[in-house]
Amino acid sequence: MGDEKKTEKAGSQINFDDVLNFIEFIEECYGEQFIIKEDKNNTGEEKERRNDNKNKSAGIFEKIMDEVSKLPDPYHIIREEKQRMLKDIAERIKVCKKCELWKSRTNAVPGDGNPNAQIVFVGEAPGYEEDKRGKPFVGKSGKLLMKMIQDVLGLRREDVFITNIVRCRPPENRTPEKEEVSACLNYLFEELSVIRPRLVVALGAPAAKAILGKDEKISEMRGKFYTRPEFTVFVTFHPAFVVRNPSYTETLENDFKKIKEFFES
Ligand code: SF4
Repeated sequence: MGDEKKTEKAGSQINFDDVLNFIEFIEECYGEQFIIKEDKNNTGEEKERRNDNKNKSAGIFEKIMDEVSKLPDPYHIIREEKQRMLKDIAERIKVCKKCELWKSRTNAVPGDGNPNAQIVFVGEAPGYEEDKRGKPFVGKSGKLLMKMIQDVLGLRREDVFITNIVRCRPPENRTPEKEEVSACLNYLFEELSVIRPRLVVALGAPAAKAILGKDEKISEMRGKFYTRPEFTVFVTFHPAFVVRNPSYTETLENDFKKIKEFFES
């Protein structure tokens, strides 16, 4: 360490010059000067490094914490910025004509929810209700999804982000064609790159295949976690399938219990 200048707080060592630089930065921001006291060899003897015009004196760390506490909360800055970016993606989706599905839509349906969500649910495509209201998962399958989110995960709709691989309703709710998925999928990856969730839950085979790039049956993928560089993917049934086949409700519930365990581990 040689003659490197150090100061100690709560057992950790911090480079004294770094502290000075930081204080100077704070001073520039707030137009005030502080007295900085240095204890070179931890002898308890402090040496004043600088005087200020207003003759103010304060412990370095208390002052830093005091000044930092006045700065805007970075969580809110990040959330607002993410919200702005998601809004930009949504605006582009609403006027998109990259595939033929725009011709029959009432509303395109962008993703919806918390920009800081730890978990993102991805379905297939909007249905009748979603097309009418321009919001994902607001029909019967949305009710079931929300029941699982609330009852099993203990979360609210505003805690998560909900979206689809395709944003315009296919006629008669048919499964989206490969070309339609290819044309639309980038919007999903844009949303995910803004939100940066820990877990992406693929609801049903089309979502799982599109996200994982696999061509496997839902029976082979369901209930499994897949680690990807940016996030983990979990595959379960699409709630619309469970609405039509209520005997699978318990399986869906058990999958949601696995999701809960993932966040508790
Ligand atoms: S489905 Fe997607 S790609 Fe096709 S028009 Fe709608 S938003 Fe655009």
